[in-house]
Amino acid sequence: MKLASRMARIGESATLRVSRKAGELRRQGIEVADFSAGEPDFDTPLVGIDAAIEGLRTGFTRYTNSSGIPELREALAERYGALGAPWTAASVVVTVGAKAALMELALALFEEDQEVIIPAPYWVTFPEQIRMVGAEPVEIASSVEDGFRIHAEPILEALTPRTRAVLLNSPCNPTGGILEGADLERIVEACAERDVLVIADETYERFIYDGREHASAAALAARFPDTIILVGSFSKTYAMTGWRVGYLLGPAPVISAVSNIQSHATSNTTSFAMLGALAAMRGAESDVAEMLTEYAVRRELVGERLAAMPGVSCPPPSGSFYAFPRVAECYREGRQGSIEMAEFLLDEARVAVVPGVAFGNDDHIRISFACSRSELELGLDRMAAALAG
Ligand code: GLU
Repeated sequence: MKLASRMARIGESATLRVSRKAGELRRQGIEVADFSAGEPDFDTPLVGIDAAIEGLRTGFTRYTNSSGIPELREALAERYGALGAPWTAASVVVTVGAKAALMELALALFEEDQEVIIPAPYWVTFPEQIRMVGAEPVEIASSVEDGFRIHAEPILEALTPRTRAVLLNSPCNPTGGILEGADLERIVEACAERDVLVIADETYERFIYDGREHASAAALAARFPDTIILVGSFSKTYAMTGWRVGYLLGPAPVISAVSNIQSHATSNTTSFAMLGALAAMRGAESDVAEMLTEYAVRRELVGERLAAMPGVSCPPPSGSFYAFPRVAECYREGRQGSIEMAEFLLDEARVAVVPGVAFGNDDHIRISFACSRSELELGLDRMAAALAG
């Protein structure tokens, strides 16, 4: 079968591949500690579920405006407006998850041979989407030594006449590293001068620890309205991964282009899922606070256990719900590199992790702590025993 040539540039999402394998083992009755996909184990807040059911019962089951239902667009504009952004409901497109928002942006904005700067390690999907439309990802390494903080300087140095956009993800999946407000401002100022777009994927904005503050690009959107595009998601904050509701906000021409693409690609995000997302946004704050408290406890637990494993080093993640330990000191015959290490951990310890190479660093593995404390304890015990053997 001859496939389109772009298929030579992409493979299956590594995060979803590992979680598929873990699911297959579970179906065979094998108990697997699944630290693979970043998927909250919590139930969606009831207020969201009730709103979606009510929508289904009352006939809210038809096409909607392809950019999303007006109430949700309005609520999102207000939310970011509170940070100073000039966006209105017309500046919002509700998408089938943040993943679709990013894909549609890539289609709308990137040309063949343009460059898109991404801090590395990066989320698996970023380079793939950039390549899918023929553009080129340019990786800027962040370092384990300073907790994978994303600095402005190397990004500014990488700007060239071919740069179309800088794609930021703070807090970062997979490292938990963050971008400080001052660095964000320097990047945005430099990009605005050169007509380069800044796409800020703020999916993990609420997952931030030790009293740190999230620096949102929305706070700079009034000064740089033609430069900033913000992408967000309901999946992680509200434990709504399967609902597939994400969004983007940005300049009018971008919104109109994305909206056009969406009208041909998905028509709209599922009508009643948008009702659920809206209700969660309005009424699930106490559920979110409880979940965040639990994530902070899990982060401590994972940090302590990893620190006690010989050869494993892991700075505590500043944000997100991932740890990205360096495990290269544990590489041996048969578990050389992060792919073999992940296979070894799955075969020997029944622990599913994602190989760091999928995120651009082969010395690490990614552990999601969006699973219960008991699963974390079980998996980390098994991992320690397997690595010691
Ligand atoms: N974003 C999550 C992760 O990195 C979910 C899976 C995916 O879409 O990649 O695990």
